[in-house]
Parts: sequence; structure tokens; C-alpha cells
Amino acid sequence: MRDILPPESARWRRFVAEFADVVGPAGYGQVITPLLEDLGVFTRIGDATDVVTKEMYDFIDKGERHIALRPELTAGVCRAFAQHRPATPWKVWYAGSNFRYEKPQRGRYRQFDQVGIEVLGVDDPYLDVEVISLGWEFYRRLGLQQVTLLINSLGEPEDRARYVAALDTYFGAHIDALSEQSVETLARNPLRVLDSKRAQDAEVIAGAPQIADYLSTAAAEHFAAVLAGLERVGIAFTVDPLLVRGLDYYRRTTFEFRGDTLDSAQNALGGGGRYDGLVEDLGGPATAGIGFAIGVDRTLLACEDEGVFVAPPPVVQVFVVDTVGGLEALALTTELRSAGVSADRAYEGRSMKSQMKSADRSGASFAVIIGSDELAADQVVIRPMRGGGDQFSLPRAQTLGRLVQLCDESGSHTVSPNATKDRSSS
Ligand code: AMP
Repeated sequence: MRDILPPESARWRRFVAEFADVVGPAGYGQVITPLLEDLGVFTRIGDATDVVTKEMYDFIDKGERHIALRPELTAGVCRAFAQHRPATPWKVWYAGSNFRYEKPQRGRYRQFDQVGIEVLGVDDPYLDVEVISLGWEFYRRLGLQQVTLLINSLGEPEDRARYVAALDTYFGAHIDALSEQSVETLARNPLRVLDSKRAQDAEVIAGAPQIADYLSTAAAEHFAAVLAGLERVGIAFTVDPLLVRGLDYYRRTTFEFRGDTLDSAQNALGGGGRYDGLVEDLGGPATAGIGFAIGVDRTLLACEDEGVFVAPPPVVQVFVVDTVGGLEALALTTELRSAGVSADRAYEGRSMKSQMKSADRSGASFAVIIGSDELAADQVVIRPMRGGGDQFSLPRAQTLGRLVQLCDESGSHTVSPNATKDRSSS
């Protein structure tokens, strides 16, 4: 588990804001579900996956309930849908932390964040395309170029069952050639053997039966419509017959966004698919569903690799230098902040020289200097910091108005880009 410190945390906040900006205008509202759910919410959705069987943080609470920290968000969203029965189509987005007891490494943590969307109550292949294209658009907004969309269909549950049986037979016949770990996986879930990235398994996996040969006509038609829709909106994709994804509830369309700059074991930036039937499993009515989750931690690593979506340097517009005890700085920074100008100051009555150094480091466009002469004359000195002309004196009473004007003219930005936006639109 990691600490996210400033200024990196500003990048996280901007990441979520950017995501909301992509999906909000497409009709998605934010849903906020608890970090904890009844353990059953997760075991009902995937009792054959590592995420649920091996990696969950579960415990008995003080009321003797068996609960778990959520390992992902889809199950909680479907539980909320089953509980509240909102009108469909229910289009929602989320952002939040998840917990999995995994082996930590670069891009894989025990607490990690995701943003994502879910749509409940619509069975239409063009919705699959909408969902995928919103994920695609988000990567584009971040500036990422090296992302590949992988897509597959897992068919209807019956198709999938026939396919799993065929895989079981096939891998069973080649068990001697499989790695020890894959032999173990085979006993639990033959589908997951396809996920193995171990060199020893590669040859056996390459010869394995493919899901495409087990799809019903309806599932094959749905998949063809999704691919045609993607072509129509100009999104490049690669059909990957081995893409089965980590969670068991997927059926028909499944997809993954692969970050091509990352190590192959951690290169899934995000993924999702259809999970018709999940709401029913959680005690709700039969409901179609589709969604995706994008890993924040890992996508930001990809951004670093590509040198895009960099953390904004923490800057303020105005730095107040007060050598007369600090009360003037307190008053002026308070006034500036309520007028929407970002402002900072030094503390502990430091020397003029030391305060000017801090002003420089703060990235401020203007320093306001209040020394004993200024205090006596009821004035301040305004010094443009970044080659913006000569310093000048001003009556204290005009200081706030003049600084607001100067900051607007210079277009200097506040700590958060969104704060600037809010101020100019209000
Ligand atoms: P999943 O919920 O397993 O389909 O994962 C969706 C996305 O969440 C992945 O593509 C990753 O970007 C991210 N993710 C999943 N597990 C972790 C983890 N342990 N650490 C960091 N990111 C993760």
C-alpha cells in the first residue's frame, strides 16, 4: 500500500476530474458505494477466481458479520442496483480504492485505485461500443498513444461451459507439458490457464481450442456487431482469442486496454466486459450489464513512460512577504484567497531574504512586500516575479483589487487547474 504525496496527488485528482469530464456528458452519473461489502457479494460473483478465493481482505466485524474490503467495484454497483432498483438504463461512473492481497511490484499494489463505468439494463451491441469508446477517449485525453484495445467474446454461459469442458479435456491431455502452477489452475478453472504468461505453458496454450468455435449464433452475431461498431467509430482493435480476464462473471464481450510501454505481467491498464446475470446472482431481477475499470496507478505509470499527463508544478499566484510580525500577511492572504486568488506566505518571522527565497520557490507571479516603511505609509510593494516589469508601491486599500486584476491579466494559474476554471465561469 502506498502513500500518494503532493504534487503527485494533484495528478490523481486531475485524473478523476478528466474521467468525469469524459463520461459525464455521455449520460453517466457518479455512484459511491461502500468500501466494505458483505463477503457474499464477492463470493457469489467469482468463487473460482484468485481475486475472490486468495486475495480478499475479509474479516468478522463486531456484529459477527463476515465482510470484505472490496477487491473491485462492479459487484458493489450491481448490489446497489439490486437493492435500489433505479430506472434503466442505469449509467454510472465511479472512482475509488480496491484491496487485493497480491504480490506487490511496480504496477501491482495491495491497495489500488480504479475509475470506471457500468451500464445496467441494456442489451445492445452498440452500447458495448459506446462503453469501449469512452475508455478509448479517456486514454486519448490523457495523451497516451501506446494503448492497444484487445477484444474477445466469451459467448453465452452455455457456450462458455462447452468451451471450458473442451479446454479441460485438451489441457488434461497435455498436463505433463504444463507448468506446476497451471496444473493447479486447471483444477480450479481451466479458462484461467489461458492467462498464464509462463514460457513453459506457451506451446500448449497456442494449440488450445478457441472460444470462437464454440459461440452460439446469437453470441457470434453480437460480437460481429460490436466489431462493426468499433470500425464505424474508428477505433482500432485486436481480436485476442486468449483474452479471458480475471473475473468469472464476464460473458459475451470482454476487452482489455493494454499499455504497450509496460512489462507484460502488469500491462493491463484497464478492462471490462458484459456481465449479464450478475445482478440476478446478487438477488436482483435478470438484468443486462456491461462496464470497465481503469487502474489509476498503472495508467499513471504508462503516462510517465510516455511523458504525458505530467503533474502540474504546485504554484500560487501571489506570495506575501511580511517583515512586520506576520499579521499583515495573515490578513492579505485571507482576503486574496476569498477573492479566488491563490496565495501563500512564510511563517515564524523569517528574514526578508529568506521570505523572498520562499516567494521564488512558490512559483508566484507576484510578491507583495510589507515592511515597516510600507506599514507606516499604509502601503504595500508589489514585485512582479517572473520578468514582469518593475516593482511599484500601492495604497493598502487598493491592493486586493489590483492583485485580482494583475492575476487575471497575467493569466497566472492557481494550484489546481479546476479552481481557475471554476473562478472564471462563476
Ligand atoms: P480487474 O478489476 O482485475 O479487471 O482490473 C482492472 C484494472 O485495475 C487493471 O487493468 C489494472 O490497471 C488495475 N489493477 C488490478 N489489480 C491491480 C493491482 N493489484 N494494483 C494496481 N492496479 C491493479
